[in-house]
Amino acid sequence: MTTLTKNISFGFEPLDLTTAHPFGIAYGTSSATRNVLVKLSFEGLVGLGEAAPASYHSEKRETVMSVLALFKEKEKDIFGDDPFAIEEISQRMDKVIAGNYAAKAAIEMALHDLTGKLANLPTYKMLGLSGKAFPMTDFTIAIDELSVIEKKTKEAVAAGYKMLKVKLGTTYDYQIIEIIRRVTPDLPLRVDANGGWSVKEAVKKAEFLAEHNVEFIEQPLPKASHLNDLRFVKEHSPLPIFADETACRAFDVAALAGSVDGVVIKLAKCGGILEARRAIATARAHSLKVMFGMMIESSIGVTAAAQLQSLCDYLDLDGALLLKDDPYDGVTYDDGYLKYPDRPGLGVIERKTGK
Ligand SMILES: [Mg+2]
Repeated sequence: MTTLTKNISFGFEPLDLTTAHPFGIAYGTSSATRNVLVKLSFEGLVGLGEAAPASYHSEKRETVMSVLALFKEKEKDIFGDDPFAIEEISQRMDKVIAGNYAAKAAIEMALHDLTGKLANLPTYKMLGLSGKAFPMTDFTIAIDELSVIEKKTKEAVAAGYKMLKVKLGTTYDYQIIEIIRRVTPDLPLRVDANGGWSVKEAVKKAEFLAEHNVEFIEQPLPKASHLNDLRFVKEHSPLPIFADETACRAFDVAALAGSVDGVVIKLAKCGGILEARRAIATARAHSLKVMFGMMIESSIGVTAAAQLQSLCDYLDLDGALLLKDDPYDGVTYDDGYLKYPDRPGLGVIERKTGK
């Protein structure tokens, strides 16, 4: 028999994920992802959340676990007895500790999951969205040896992926693009340098990429670059420039206006669905394009991110598609699009138990 609780209680545990192939980006290569699973309980229902910390945003599993332990200590004060007060719970978490947005995003997405289950509605409906009319998501080709990149591109094309995102920021970026364009001359292609270029290099590479039918460039310069440098690249690049690592919260998006053409929003760097929505609104207010992205995350993280997909221009929500061992089922990949599960809340279930 399930015990009913008046207060929200939560638990958390490590969530280890493995990518199907080593995943290389400008910061390094890894197959193992060390995320954290959050479970919020209330009135016999459980909300799921996932923290996907990134070292380049000053978080790792250990910091997430210690922040969650701190929240657990103050559980009654932070959560109270109303899981629908998501905004206020977020503010109370911010008062306990600044930053640590991957940890906070895990709790925030679990609250959305829980309240959707309590109301028996999918989260996107709770957010006032139709769950229709969204862009396709891309599939990422990570940094690797050229022969492996060629093989992975052929596999991605054969698997029917409709658009690709290519990780750059290497000494052989030109060859990477040439080899991919030999495999697939026309598939929509965007690139992400993950801060791996200098200003001069970015402008030169942008010209080359434009000649190779690339749509736009993500994070050409390092995260802490001066806005004047970003603006110089934007003004001299034939392709639109998007900020990712530099654009975390709504505040950052406002500061980037005029220096980039678009921003990449992710739950793990902004702290959750509500702040992501503010960041999107801020981008719109400044005529910036919006891409929604994610870290390497299970179907919990991707399904949470996908709740806002109808508000975005571009989607880079393939983190769970890259996994070998996703323990959860959530959104499914359907001919380029992410399809919502027909279940309340995020609608994510554990593969093993079907619950
Ligand atoms: Mg990126």
